[in-house]
Amino acid sequence: MIESYKCATCGQIHTGLPFSFAAEFPDQYANMTRDERDARAVIGSDQYIIDQLWFFIRGWLEIPIVGSNEVFLWGLWASVREEVFDEISECWELVGRENSRGPFKGRLGNSLAEYPETLNLKLRIVLQPVGARPLFVVEEPDHSLAQEQSSGITRDRALRMASLVLHQERGGFPANLKG
Ligand SMILES: [Zn+2]
Repeated sequence: MIESYKCATCGQIHTGLPFSFAAEFPDQYANMTRDERDARAVIGSDQYIIDQLWFFIRGWLEIPIVGSNEVFLWGLWASVREEVFDEISECWELVGRENSRGPFKGRLGNSLAEYPETLNLKLRIVLQPVGARPLFVVEEPDHSLAQEQSSGITRDRALRMASLVLHQERGGFPANLKG
């Protein structure tokens, strides 16, 4: 269903506002210069290693939308310990990994401007069947992102958040996020 929406940020009518946004990189990588990136980072579609010291994996953070079957999806990065990174890499193609491995601990690798600082929030990383990215669950119950993740958000809140990300320069979101 395509619906139109009067944008709270720019006042224009938008159609088909997405409820899914993904960060292309961990913020640590996004903040590096091109030369630093070449020298310090080893990158894959779902994995980044910086300085052989920082290990990141890509996943989804779901926020349910109350009264619907929809979720607001943030595609984000988690930093994990090297052992965790190695274990997740090792079972990347393992059928049934979601039942036999994890959950793992990690820390959120992205700031989301719509919340109090989210960088380094503690996460539970739950593997999904082969081909699907892991799910991130925020494990800091006092943080509003964790509260929204467990209680859900209204559709209005989801629309407002989407409009802010679409206008990143006004919403304060890093240009790293793509709809
Ligand atoms: Zn707008």
